Amino acid sequence: MKTYDVIVIGGGLAGFMAAAVAASRGQKVAVLTYGSGSLPLASGAIDFLNAKAPDAAIKNLPAHHPYKKIASKNIDAAAKFFCDITSQGNLPYVGRLSAQIPIVTAVGTLKYSCLVPESMDASNLADKKKIFVVEIAGLKDFYGAMLVDNLKKYFPDKTFEVTKIDLKLLGGRDITCMDAAQILTDKEQPLANELKALNATADDAIIIPPILGVMGSFSRDVVKTQLKAEIIETTCLPPSPPGLRLQRAFIKYLQKAGVRILENSKVIRGVVEGKKLTGVVVENVVREKVFPARKVILATGGFYSGGIVMRDFDNPREPIFDLPVFFPTGAENWSNQNLFDDKPQGFSMTGILTDANLNPIDENGKVLYENLHVVGANLGGCDKIFERSMGGIAIASAYKGAIL
Ligand SMILES: Cc1cc2nc3c(=O)[nH]c(=O)nc-3n(C[C@H](O)[C@H](O)[C@H](O)COP(=O)(O)OP(=O)(O)OC[C@H]3O[C@@H](n4cnc5c(N)ncnc54)[C@H](O)[C@@H]3O)c2cc1C
Repeated sequence: MKTYDVIVIGGGLAGFMAAAVAASRGQKVAVLTYGSGSLPLASGAIDFLNAKAPDAAIKNLPAHHPYKKIASKNIDAAAKFFCDITSQGNLPYVGRLSAQIPIVTAVGTLKYSCLVPESMDASNLADKKKIFVVEIAGLKDFYGAMLVDNLKKYFPDKTFEVTKIDLKLLGGRDITCMDAAQILTDKEQPLANELKALNATADDAIIIPPILGVMGSFSRDVVKTQLKAEIIETTCLPPSPPGLRLQRAFIKYLQKAGVRILENSKVIRGVVEGKKLTGVVVENVVREKVFPARKVILATGGFYSGGIVMRDFDNPREPIFDLPVFFPTGAENWSNQNLFDDKPQGFSMTGILTDANLNPIDENGKVLYENLHVVGANLGGCDKIFERSMGGIAIASAYKGAIL
C-alpha cells in the first residue's frame, strides 16, 4: 500500500493549510476528514491577535503560548503563503501582521483583523462622502437601519442611505446569505443593474451583505467593473459565503497539487512503533483501513470539531492517540462568571501541549510521538477566542507542522 509522506487528519483551515504547505514542498499528501470543519461558518477573516501591531505583541507572549513555539519567522511565512494561495484561487486577501484592517459586521460594528478578503476591506470608508447600505428583499439577518445606527458611531459626519433591492430570490421562504450567494454565482447581472441604479459616485461606498458568489472573487469582479463606487461586503451570521470561498480556494489548490482529500474518513487510532507512528487507521463499515505515513499532522479542531472530547467534567480526552489534554484544574479556574469578561476563560485554554516542534508532550514535557505534529484549534495554553488568534494560530501552526 502507498505510504504517504504526510497524512493530515482534519479538513478545516489548519488541515488544509498544512496539506497545501507540504504539497508545495513536493511531498505526497493525503487529508483524511469526516466533516467540513468550521470554514463555511467562519467570517473569512484571519485574526492573528487583538493588538494594534500583532507582530510586535506576539513577541511579548509567554513561552508556553503556541505562537512562541511556532516562532515569528514562520508566522510571517505562513501569512505570505496563505495570501499566495488565495490569490492563485482568485480570492485576494489584503493586510499584514503589523496592523489591523477594519471590516463591517452585519450589525454595523467594525471588526479588526490582519488578513481579510479584499471584498470586505473597509479601510477606505473614512474617506467616502456617502455610504449606501443595500438590503436584499427576503434576506434574513441583515437590517440596514440597524447597521447604519451602529456605523454612524464610527463615522458621525458621513451621509448614509439605506435602500432595499428586490432580486426576486424569494421562493416563499426567507433566504440566507449563503442561499443568495449561491443563486447569484454566474448570475450577477440583476444585482449589478440594481446597484448601478443607485448612481453612486467614485467618492461613495456601497455596503452589501456577503452575497457576491461562492467562487473566489469572480462575481465581485463582474459587479465591481460596472460601478464607480467601492463595493464592500459585510460579515454575516453562519453559514458564511466568505468562509466557503476560502474553503473552495484551498480545495482547488490541493487538487491541483495532487493532494488526496478523503471525506467521510474518520481516523480512530494510530499505528504505533515505539515513539513513532507508521500510519493511521480509518473507521469503515466493512473493515478498518490503514493509511501508512511517514509523518502525521493532527488538525482535528479541538472542542469544536471533536478533536478533543469531554464526556466527564475534569476529563478532557484526545480520542485518536489518547494524548494528554491540558486544562485548568478547579472549578474556580474553569470559567469566569461573566462570559464576556475582560479576562480569558479557563475552559478555552483546554488543549494539547507541545514542544517547539509541535510534537505532543506529556505532563513532564516528554515527547510522545516524534512524527506527530499538533496544529490549529487542538493547541492548548491560550484562550484563542479571547485573544482573537484562531485563524492566525491555525495557519501559522499548520505551516510550521508541515515544514518540519
Ligand atoms: C462561527 C465561526 C466564526 C469564526 N470566525 C473567525 C474569524 O472571524 N476569524 C478567525 O481568525 N477565525 C474564525 N473562526 C475560527 C476558524 O475558522 C477555525 O475554526 C480555526 O481556525 C480552527 O481551525 P481548525 O482547522 O483547527 O479546526 P476545524 O475547522 O474545526 O477543522 C477540524 C476538522 O477535523 C475534522 N475531524 C475531527 N475529528 C476527526 C477524525 N477523528 N478523523 C478525521 N477528521 C476529523 C473535522 O471534521 C473538521 O473537518 C471562526 C470559527 C467559527 C466556528
